[in-house]
Amino acid sequence: MQYLHLDLKGIVPSEMQFYSWLDWFKKCGFDGLVMEYDCRVPWDTWADAGSPLFGKDVVTRLVGHAEKLGFEVIPLIQVHGHLEWILQNESYAYLRENGELNELCPLQPDSFPKMCQWIDEVAALHPNARNIHLGCDETWHLGSCPECRKKISGDPLQRGKMGLFIDHAAKLCRYAAEEKQLRPMIWDDMFCRDHGASLKSLSVFPEETIFVHWKYGRNTTDHLDLIRSTGQETWGASAVRCGWIDHHWKALNILGDRLDNIADWQKTDLNLIHTTWGRPNNLWNLYGPWEALIPPFIAAGNPSGWASHPWRLFVRALDEALLKAERPALENLAGEVLRLPAADPMETRAKTWFSLGIQYELMHLEALTLLQTDRCLKVLSGHGCRDVRRDEKWNTLRRTFREKVEEWEAELELFWKENQLSDFDEYRDTRRAGFFLDL
Ligand SMILES: [Zn+2]
Repeated sequence: MQYLHLDLKGIVPSEMQFYSWLDWFKKCGFDGLVMEYDCRVPWDTWADAGSPLFGKDVVTRLVGHAEKLGFEVIPLIQVHGHLEWILQNESYAYLRENGELNELCPLQPDSFPKMCQWIDEVAALHPNARNIHLGCDETWHLGSCPECRKKISGDPLQRGKMGLFIDHAAKLCRYAAEEKQLRPMIWDDMFCRDHGASLKSLSVFPEETIFVHWKYGRNTTDHLDLIRSTGQETWGASAVRCGWIDHHWKALNILGDRLDNIADWQKTDLNLIHTTWGRPNNLWNLYGPWEALIPPFIAAGNPSGWASHPWRLFVRALDEALLKAERPALENLAGEVLRLPAADPMETRAKTWFSLGIQYELMHLEALTLLQTDRCLKVLSGHGCRDVRRDEKWNTLRRTFREKVEEWEAELELFWKENQLSDFDEYRDTRRAGFFLDL
């Protein structure tokens, strides 16, 4: 079974556009959806936190539409780490693990009841759900507050920091299973971090708990056998999009790595969740809209469809040009993308997005040259090398560049409006920041 994960804390479409996406995802071949709601729903449990875009009535309609299409919908919430959107608020600061914004202290007396209340809310919104994903990845700050440290040193089982993780995660998995009749799922990376040493404590989890092994880079199946050898049901997870160092201020990401990662996972016999991250976390940059991901979406939902897709050569050439920052190749591809065939309206939108992205990449290269010149001229001026005519020409160049950026931003805004996307101002401002220059 191929499940598509949608991380709603990133750029998302309006409710009306969401329906078209769901229809397209179905056509793409996915069997289920893993909806990571994060900060986008006005949860009663977390009053005044987040930036809600979808009321509960909207979620009910979207889930209803998805189920009518035949999708299984699995809600996903984080119950331990990746909680910046909640913990950054002063009213919830008391729940932080040793003051960290992203992690809950599992020993804070309110932590367990609040998470149960949230599970209740999520379960009520998904009356037909069979599974619930409770996150539990990357809890980097385990055991750092005084209470947690004390608990670790007094643990009769001597499980170290993982004892705290296991007790908290297992208690919530039991709550979901016993009180809500939802089969719990969690990510398995915390067990991989200690090379499986804490897997011997798995018996405290409900036996039906599903462990999901995510791996977005090469050697996809390294560590997979750790969790599989326990006999627990194991799923795999690829990334249609995930974070990488160069992406913070860019508009296009390298797709070849994603396509390889998806194809690697598809060689296994596991149920797969293809993750589509919207931003690294709530305090970091937004990635692009879903339109940027049409090729990996097709590859994940319909591998044979991608194997014969007419865009394959273009995607490879674009990756190469982006990696080498080759201006002539990018200029060629800016023309070529508009001539690509489009099988449906989503592919047409993707072509427009790639065109915008290539233009941005070309401006990015130009900005770097301008920045270097700008700095050199300032230094030269300090050494008495001044030329008024040269300065005038330089100012004209800067002005022309600014006009080009303004034109691009107007096209970007049009794209946002036509496709009814969220977070335009933040996206535009962060891409503009990538130009280095004070425009
Ligand atoms: Zn603590």
